[in-house]
Amino acid sequence: MMNRQIVLRSRPEGNPTVDNFEMVHVEVPPVTDASVLRRTIYLSLDPYMRGRMSDAESYAASVAIRQVMVGHTVSQVVESHNPAFAAGDFVAGYDGWQEFGLSSGRELRKLDPNSAPISTALGTLGMPGMTAYVGLLDIGQPKPGETVVVSAASGAVGSVVGQIARIKGCRAVGIAGSPDKCQYVVDELGFDACVNYKSAGFHEDLAGACPSGIDVYFENVGGAVFAAVVRLLNNNARIPLCGLIADYNAVKMPPGPNLRPLLVKRALIKGFIVSDHNDRAAAFQKDCAAWLREGRLKYREDIVDGLEHAPAALLKLFDGRNFGKLMVRVSQDPTR
Ligand code: NDP
Repeated sequence: MMNRQIVLRSRPEGNPTVDNFEMVHVEVPPVTDASVLRRTIYLSLDPYMRGRMSDAESYAASVAIRQVMVGHTVSQVVESHNPAFAAGDFVAGYDGWQEFGLSSGRELRKLDPNSAPISTALGTLGMPGMTAYVGLLDIGQPKPGETVVVSAASGAVGSVVGQIARIKGCRAVGIAGSPDKCQYVVDELGFDACVNYKSAGFHEDLAGACPSGIDVYFENVGGAVFAAVVRLLNNNARIPLCGLIADYNAVKMPPGPNLRPLLVKRALIKGFIVSDHNDRAAAFQKDCAAWLREGRLKYREDIVDGLEHAPAALLKLFDGRNFGKLMVRVSQDPTR
């Protein structure tokens, strides 16, 4: 049986391009005594992948040249010699950009397609949802009546942040990059307001949407958006520093925002990496799965068909052409 894989061919300088990737065909190794073979159904595409393509020092190892690109996956078991899994089971794993994964299965998590759509294991009930949960609740510590602002608000992480803020009794204000996205954030996700950072009146619109100032700013983008937000911080504001996607392709770092308001407002800003918070995974699954079932957490997926389109699809994250959790359908989803 042949396996199609996408490997890293070269490291980008500035914006990644499809030429940084290459499709290769290899044989699937024989399934040995204690291993689990699965077929990828969905491959998650995430902003952190830009960091893995670079050899700059970071919190996680780079992908080597000619190595299969890493990524979270949802798959169906084809053959199993591990008693914990049977052929036909759906599993969440980290098989990367390829059609088949093979391992002992120790790192796999079984999914119940009757409790939530299996693709949510890559979004609301997966790594992005967990990022929103720990970043907002543990670092942001929102209190009822406070104003929570989140950037990249229509995306995988931001959409969950604002909805949990609402569940916790806060005013939720999104920042997004188009009128369509802002309308979705308010009308579908139930945020109190959403402002378009690309519009000429962004600063005034943001101030108008936050009449009592900002108590929690969940930072996903950095750059000019961050600069606009800090002017509106309240005393003792908290800033979970989750991502800085505006800088991920920068060759030279742009001039930074004025950080003085952070000082005079005694704001707390704390960077975090979701994988350091695995002790919160059970609470996250329990709360978010319940909110999803009750219809209090809504989500949108941006699904691209075909593993061969993964390189071009990844680029959508960096200019905002994705709308919702971006993933690739590598093979047919038998549950849909
Ligand atoms: P999204 O689904 O939100 O997609 C990325 C979005 O970022 C785009 O759609 C675009 O939305 C916005 N964006 C892209 N470029 C810019 C720019 N130059 N300026 C402003 N906005 C921009 O992605 P995720 O929800 O998966 O990730 C959101 C953030 O969370 C990222 O920074 C990511 O790295 C970070 N993250 C951090 C983790 C951690 O452990 N700390 C874990 C997971 C994610 P728009 O059209 O609105 O501009």
